[in-house]
Amino acid sequence: MRRAIATVSMAGTLADKLEAAAAAGFDGIELFEADLTYYGGTPEDVRARAAELGLSIVALQPFRDAEGLPPPERARMLDRLERKLDLMERLGRLLLVCSQTRADAGGEPERLIEDLRLLAERAGRRGLVVGYEALAWGRFVNDWRQAWDLVRRADHLALGLILDTFHLLVRGSPTVPIRSVPPEKIVLVQTADAPSIAMDPLFWSRHYRCFPGQGELDVESVLRELLAIGWDDWLSHEIFSDDFRSTSARQAATDGMRSFLFLEERLGCGSLPPRPEPRGLGFVEFVEAAERAPAFRATLRALGLSRTHRHRSKRVELYRAGDVAIVLNLEEEGFPHAFQLLHGLSVAALAIETDGAERARARAAALRTTPFVSPVGAGELAIPAVRGVAGSLLFFLDPARPGATLHEIDFLPDPEAEPAPDLGLSGFEHVAQVVPPTELASWILFYRALLGLEPARRADLVDPRGPIVSRALETPAGRLRIVLNSSPSQTSAAGRFLARTAGAGAQHLAIACRDLLAAARLIPAELRLPIPDNYYEDLAARFDLEAERLEAMRALGILYDRDPAGELLHLYTRSINGLFFELMERRGGYAGYGEVNAPVRLAAQAELDMSPAEALTLARGL
Ligand code: MG
Ligand code: MG
Repeated sequence: MRRAIATVSMAGTLADKLEAAAAAGFDGIELFEADLTYYGGTPEDVRARAAELGLSIVALQPFRDAEGLPPPERARMLDRLERKLDLMERLGRLLLVCSQTRADAGGEPERLIEDLRLLAERAGRRGLVVGYEALAWGRFVNDWRQAWDLVRRADHLALGLILDTFHLLVRGSPTVPIRSVPPEKIVLVQTADAPSIAMDPLFWSRHYRCFPGQGELDVESVLRELLAIGWDDWLSHEIFSDDFRSTSARQAATDGMRSFLFLEERLGCGSLPPRPEPRGLGFVEFVEAAERAPAFRATLRALGLSRTHRHRSKRVELYRAGDVAIVLNLEEEGFPHAFQLLHGLSVAALAIETDGAERARARAAALRTTPFVSPVGAGELAIPAVRGVAGSLLFFLDPARPGATLHEIDFLPDPEAEPAPDLGLSGFEHVAQVVPPTELASWILFYRALLGLEPARRADLVDPRGPIVSRALETPAGRLRIVLNSSPSQTSAAGRFLARTAGAGAQHLAIACRDLLAAARLIPAELRLPIPDNYYEDLAARFDLEAERLEAMRALGILYDRDPAGELLHLYTRSINGLFFELMERRGGYAGYGEVNAPVRLAAQAELDMSPAEALTLARGL
């Protein structure tokens, strides 16, 4: 399969798009006609530039409303066709014709076949080819099987079928019959995914398409059928997305290539180095200004984290409890310092424990992530790293070996170590990162492709100051959990966090503990997020909770949820620079994240965070 991307999938000018496609490693592009129309140069310039960049022009698209027209319109359509064929002679070989949508057109198959044959005849005379695609909202032809039936019966060498995974999958058209199509008659396959939301297919297609791996359609099912018949031709991403139009051409092209690499691997014809097995978060690195460090140290201590080690050469401290390891970096140079200057107190790095750090690094490179290399001091470990959300780092750790862990090599025991209260913390539970809405799909694919995290169900959270979309990603065994939150509102908790921290990435860190009621009693009241009494009235109505237990939860600001497998108790701290901690106790096999309690948390945070007047100012962008 050769990999192409339609220019409509990327933002920017045609020149930007060509460069971005080439830089991301594509072999070809589908030229969306509007991109050419708005381009200052000639079609020959486009062709020459594409050739210079090593890109084939796979198709020109779209030629609309061609078949089944009444006589005067039909003559006009044929004029239009001749002009486009003139253009094609200067550009490439394949013209994409999509199925008719006009209300005044007819749908008698014989008429459609005759028209398609005529189009093919005119194109064929010039050595060109017409590909016919069924739009999901086509007036008469809206299923790929109908398009294939017409193409088969028109029986012309210059006419082929175009399949578009979006149109196929949103209509629920069966994919198995693809096996009966001769592969040489499929002249192009367009790939697109989409979130699974019920809406009008036209609107859905124009605004919500995304790259395979970012949405929820079963794009692989279509490609498996194509591979089964030995089809081996151009595969082209065709994505209409408001979000992609708001990012750079480079970003979309990189995501598009990552999507193909991911898809090919899942289809068993991939070229990626094997995927590392993530075993959880090894450590989380915070950065803070040295003069503000005492306050954050006190918070860590109050949460049961003891400073056990100091870095052998840097102003870096290590805090531990159970399997939780937090690094506090107070350095005044290098990447951590730059991150701190830009974002304030924030999470500058997440370290992922894997079964092979070098393998993880190789895979990250193949997936075109951005590598990060930092200077390494004498006797320090060089940890492979790439840029993650918000430009923060993702470290890859090797499996911990006794006597050779990061802590023992880079850190020395802290002579002034004083143990913090024992809160029974056991390990990291999850980390939640805030991303701009335009980047959400991109980071979902990043984590899926790189680490094999799979998205759990989408949760739409209600914040009193704007909606938040939340997607949890996790390993099948739940060893690594990362939650991505995004909001179109600048005043929601996610929006405020982006605005205040200039987009610092991680907003909250959840830590698992063995007995939350006991732990909460040791946490100072002023650190806990206050929860309204009304919440506990409602809890009493929803669950048969023992009065004493309910009262203890109320007194300590503990939230509660239950599912068929178990229970969840959790509490939040107040935020510092928009950042907060969560302590969680999962009982039994409780699988969620307490999403049902998100609105009460978000309301409490909104209350503490800003006055309504401030919210209004922020919303108006003043
Ligand atoms: Mg299409
Ligand atoms: Mg959480």
